[in-house]
Amino acid sequence: MPASPLLIVGSMAFDDLDLPSGQARDVVGGSCTYAGLAASHFAPVRAVAVVGEDFPQATLDDLGKRGVDCAGIERAKGKTFRWWGRYADDLVSRTTLDTQLNVFADFKPKLPAGYSESPYVLLGNIHPALQLEVLAQIKKPRLVAADTMNFWISGERKLLGQVLEKIDLLVINDEELRQLAEIHNLTRAARAVLKLGPKRLIVKRGEFGALLFDSDDTFFVPAYPLEDEVDPTGAGDSFAGALLGYLAQKDATDRATLRQALHTGATVASFCVEAVGTGRLTTLEPGAIRMRMGELRALVHPGD
Ligand code: AMP
Repeated sequence: MPASPLLIVGSMAFDDLDLPSGQARDVVGGSCTYAGLAASHFAPVRAVAVVGEDFPQATLDDLGKRGVDCAGIERAKGKTFRWWGRYADDLVSRTTLDTQLNVFADFKPKLPAGYSESPYVLLGNIHPALQLEVLAQIKKPRLVAADTMNFWISGERKLLGQVLEKIDLLVINDEELRQLAEIHNLTRAARAVLKLGPKRLIVKRGEFGALLFDSDDTFFVPAYPLEDEVDPTGAGDSFAGALLGYLAQKDATDRATLRQALHTGATVASFCVEAVGTGRLTTLEPGAIRMRMGELRALVHPGD
């Protein structure tokens, strides 16, 4: 059975990264870039984003070769979105030093013909107003998932509330979940956010794995124990992209498939951390994904 298409809307960016290993400047990033690359291993991707005149055409061409349809990526007058983040030595806590919306400030997403029938949709981390604009153009999706971040939780809470009412699955990290629910305990925070609309919620916890909550199920997947962590930027987006890509590949959203999708998300996210920016995702082979999936599974299987 051929995989169903997955529509991803998100940011395409230049990132300036202050990492314990050194500074990296003008690194191509953004939620759409990471999620698209991760998802492309599993399903055809339709990307919706905006870039400025300064964004390399070669990057878009490369995405195209990997099965990411870039017809929905608009090239607008002006500069590409920019984000500057600084990581602490533990690579866990990160501070945003600057966010420049640039071409995102005037972006009005318009889905190319055929995109509105996309059965699987990932509203990547982006202004919730844009997430809503995309949602309004989608017809009868089988599953809509959304991601967000602290920037929008503190700045656009009301609009984000409208997004939550309309989605099936929220994929969010632990710090953001606590901020959104204003509750420290993750289980209680998840239950509170599920009451705001999403039927299911996945909490990404970096090196501590990820948890899935829905009305009658809680499931845990560990993070792959890496020896060399270089740059966690985009790991959350890669997790969400691979997760949705897997669901689109199987064209299923039942509990068992969702659990497998979490394993897939955790596996692909671990690769993302191994190099700066998208460096590892762009060299990733299906065989390496399969092997690490097995290692991750064995990690928590106690045997008979
Ligand atoms: P992650 O590490 O998975 O949370 O994602 C990091 C990516 O998110 C970076 O490549 C940034 O370009 C992008 N990003 C950072 N802040 C924002 C924002 N406010 N809106 C959209 N994308 C952002």
